[in-house]
Amino acid sequence: MDRNLKDYRKVVGKEVINEIHSKAEKIKKKHIVCISSTYQGGGVAEMLNSVIFLFNQIGIDFGWRILHGTPDFFAITKRFHNALQGEKMNLSRRKKKIYLETNERFSKFTHINHDLVVVHDPQPLPLIEFYKKKQPWIFRCHVDLSNPNPDVWNYLRGFIEKYDHFVVSKKEFKRDDLDVPQSIIHPAIDPLSPKNKRLPPSVINKYLDKHEITRDKPIISQISRFDKWKGFLGVIKIFETVRKKRDCQLVLLGTFAHDDPEGQKIFRKIEMKAEKSKYKRDIKLLLVENDILVNCVQRASSVVLQKSKREGFGLTVAEALYKGTPVVASGVGGIPLQVIDSVNGYLHNPKDIKGFVKSVLRLLDDEKLRKEFGMKGKEHIKNNFLITRLMLDWLDLFERYLIHRS
Ligand code: UDP
Repeated sequence: MDRNLKDYRKVVGKEVINEIHSKAEKIKKKHIVCISSTYQGGGVAEMLNSVIFLFNQIGIDFGWRILHGTPDFFAITKRFHNALQGEKMNLSRRKKKIYLETNERFSKFTHINHDLVVVHDPQPLPLIEFYKKKQPWIFRCHVDLSNPNPDVWNYLRGFIEKYDHFVVSKKEFKRDDLDVPQSIIHPAIDPLSPKNKRLPPSVINKYLDKHEITRDKPIISQISRFDKWKGFLGVIKIFETVRKKRDCQLVLLGTFAHDDPEGQKIFRKIEMKAEKSKYKRDIKLLLVENDILVNCVQRASSVVLQKSKREGFGLTVAEALYKGTPVVASGVGGIPLQVIDSVNGYLHNPKDIKGFVKSVLRLLDDEKLRKEFGMKGKEHIKNNFLITRLMLDWLDLFERYLIHRS
């Protein structure tokens, strides 16, 4: 990564960068560590990869540890994740045992003598049980908590209550039944990362050619981890109806995350459905991990879909909007913070296939509307969801616990 915080001045203005430096100055001698369960795949890793680097670059001593776990452990924690997003789960003693033992084992060789600890998501949540707590601990939950399974929430809540602070992605995810201070920090994208930076048309063409995506037909795409919450099968259904009426193509681009063992199974289901489709020649299913390719597909698409059933935030939505591409998405989780219905895209109930089809057709047929939505989408993301704002939010919270200690 060869970016420097001062490079962001041209995107957000020098006042914002100066503000980051002056807030960072106050906590410069402090040592912070964050713990998450993967450095690759998914939105959390995406953000930490930019933010941690930039914090270190401006003099904050900020470490990042990755929890070590077996496939069994990650199968269980994915079930926790699914249950927090509303699924049923049999919370057996065996599952709890593996969950706790893995965290305990990790604590034995992960020495924490920092001034502040930030733990991301349920996988490393119980770590707090295994340390003599000498500093503030913050729990940052990225999951869609709009309707969690009560048993699983109650079990995990017991750990969260040991923390000093609880951070969620949107107002509706705050909890009344939690006796811990809470705040909202919206996730954000890095405008200068390979995934989001400007690209010349020659590069876009080269990448699309390499992956056999033609420029002769409009592109509709969805880019996400292969996960059941992302609604890929519904995306194919929407595409089939749209394709009956307009000549176009669908690009489904995805990856697996190291901490999500369900990816392979979901990928196979999508592959089968695409293979059976009458329009299979117009469906491109790509399992490729490449940030520039994500950037190219988001830029080249006429419409980006995000048909999630639940969504903590949905960085892919911000990524597409920032590139001036309109988004048709489910109005769930963090998506309505980003897609403003009929302004920079359209929102639908995830089950409303007809609604999705109508919105996609409307955008495919109207270039002027796409441009107008694109401009507004870019502005909205630029004003609200860039990592410079995320850094400011985190610096405020760090100051509160490191300087004011409350
Ligand atoms: N992503 C990627 N390649 C892919 C699919 C997804 O790099 O093929 C990235 C995507 O660009 C985004 C992140 O993975 O930055 C997904 O974050 P999001 O918040 O949308 O969803 P999550 O995976 O965290 O549920």
